[in-house]
Amino acid sequence: MTYSDDRATMIEFKDVHKYYGDYHALRGINGTIKAGEFFSLLGPSGCGKTTLLRTIAGFEDISSGVIMIDGKDMAGVAANARPTNMVFQSYAIFPHMSVAENVGFGLRKDPRSKEEKARAVAEALEMVGLKGYGNRAAHALSGGQRQRVALARALILKPKVLLLDEPLSALDKKMREHMQVELIKLQRQVGITFILVTHDQEEALVMSDRIAVMFEGEIAQLADPETLYRRPATKKVADFIGTMNFVPATILSETGNAVEVDAKGLGRVMLDIDQAPAKAGESPVVGLRPETLTLLYDDQKAPERETDGVIDEVIYFGDMTYYDVYLGGTDVEVRLSMRNVPGRPVLDVGEKVRVAWSPSALVLFR
Ligand code: ATP
Repeated sequence: MTYSDDRATMIEFKDVHKYYGDYHALRGINGTIKAGEFFSLLGPSGCGKTTLLRTIAGFEDISSGVIMIDGKDMAGVAANARPTNMVFQSYAIFPHMSVAENVGFGLRKDPRSKEEKARAVAEALEMVGLKGYGNRAAHALSGGQRQRVALARALILKPKVLLLDEPLSALDKKMREHMQVELIKLQRQVGITFILVTHDQEEALVMSDRIAVMFEGEIAQLADPETLYRRPATKKVADFIGTMNFVPATILSETGNAVEVDAKGLGRVMLDIDQAPAKAGESPVVGLRPETLTLLYDDQKAPERETDGVIDEVIYFGDMTYYDVYLGGTDVEVRLSMRNVPGRPVLDVGEKVRVAWSPSALVLFR
């Protein structure tokens, strides 16, 4: 992880609201994005992530609140006067121009000499892995190459912040995964702030230093990928990022730094306060990631806790097997990698098993 918290603030949102007519698209956005950070806005369709990105770019006005970029209030500052540049989903490259003309397009009013501009274009192309492609016709490029041209065209203007609106969504899976790695490398190389909009949680987890998870115009949680995964702030975040089992629970007692709960099927368990963020309004449930559970074979002992169960369902994927296990009053999914159980047979529905779990992997939602 390259992210460190002592970086300077690049963008700050202070209670940002956006209305489209009566529709309340952004509902009080607060938070900061650091200089040099790879930051993602993640959420389902319609949550407001593109709107938030466009307000940073200056393509959308905000209804109230403040957006600061690099220490300056952006109220009334036009898009072309902001230190930002956007790469669009549709790439928006000009098919009738060459690659070099596309990349140099933003420099047409730049006072530098022709040679200097050509050098800048060559540098930008090299940066995105398209060295020597300058004279090619843009319309003859593949999807991934067009994406690189669009990136080079944005980077040549040396923005402080690069805004990326679902830049990889038009690519096939293999090319998308390849470009994810390329984008991470590029961001580290140029060191500027990247802000990516995506609805793909895996993409956000792989690429980002930090992620803002958005639902219905609000940021539900802003954190690094590991915290989002291990300590989701709400059930909704937990469900959106990966898969989580939810087990009904009763809160038995609470002290300053620990909460004791009775979780259905699992029994009594003590949780640290950071596993039980206080959020009123949900009926308490305990969350367990399927990957943190395992099945015990023969006389294996659980390192921490274990619970008896019966297999309800088996889904076999070759390298992974998913089991639904009934634990008396509740079902949990257990995901086993073959690496963890080499040579073990796949178990059948109806077999009795013991499920091993770790109290530190639980999260209480309340
Ligand atoms: P998607 O992934 O589908 O693009 P999103 O999270 O980026 O979704 P936004 O495009 O930010 O969502 O839209 C948020 C909400 O605001 C949606 O309900 C959308 O219909 C609405 N909206 C966006 N732009 C406008 C507009 N120009 N006029 C009216 N409503 C709009």
